[in-house]
Amino acid sequence: MAVIAGNWKMHHGPEEVRGFFEKLDIFDVPASSELIIFPPAVSITTAVQAPDRDPRVMIGVQNVHWEALGAFTGETSSLMAAEAGATFALIGHSERRHVFGETDEETARKAAAIVAAGLTPVLCVGETLDERRAGAVDAVILRQLDAALDHLSKGSGRFLLAYEPVWAIGTGETATPADASAAHATLRGRLEEVLGVSKAARVPILYGGSVKPENAAELLAAPDVDGVLVGGASLKPESFAAIAAASG
Ligand code: PEP
Repeated sequence: MAVIAGNWKMHHGPEEVRGFFEKLDIFDVPASSELIIFPPAVSITTAVQAPDRDPRVMIGVQNVHWEALGAFTGETSSLMAAEAGATFALIGHSERRHVFGETDEETARKAAAIVAAGLTPVLCVGETLDERRAGAVDAVILRQLDAALDHLSKGSGRFLLAYEPVWAIGTGETATPADASAAHATLRGRLEEVLGVSKAARVPILYGGSVKPENAAELLAAPDVDGVLVGGASLKPESFAAIAAASG
């Protein structure tokens, strides 16, 4: 089973969302593959209610605040996202960490709120180019995982990880399948230490960073890569469907 997720970032308002689902053809996508789209928060309800959305395509929220409600202008809570019909939530995306300065501690608080609201969390981790050059890949991704793992493993239990090297996001640079597998093995090892081997084996670890139809098959075939998180190439229904079809 593979998970193919699309992070639309700040693209696709409600009108474009309807058009996307009208055109999305997932006939060639293996029945065992799980599909998730993360639209902007204002488009979640439209995505959930889009008459042409195949129910196999689940909807998630890109970011949440850790509080359930309150005086936090501009923020969205996990409970509200759930009420709007989202069933998944991204946490710790590199743009949240590096553009908006979100800390490991804030990410952990969001993880707790997401689990409490009954959403399935997808924790993103990944190193910058400088950290990779300094040989700190494992130290960085394990620190980011450790900060949230306690919260992620509470609740009903299901959660996903996405290894997204910061230098590969939106740059056209992709990690080699071997680099992705090595980082995934590091994450899997930590999950095994903390959760035990059988529970750890059930946590899908996705790769993200300039995935496109041309490189999806080789990344998805790499050891320990259970799916992909796709930014730019998920915006067009044809390329999202082509990537998802490569998950067979
Ligand atoms: C992302 O936003 O999570 C991502 C991986 O973006 P892109 O595929 O455009 O590199």
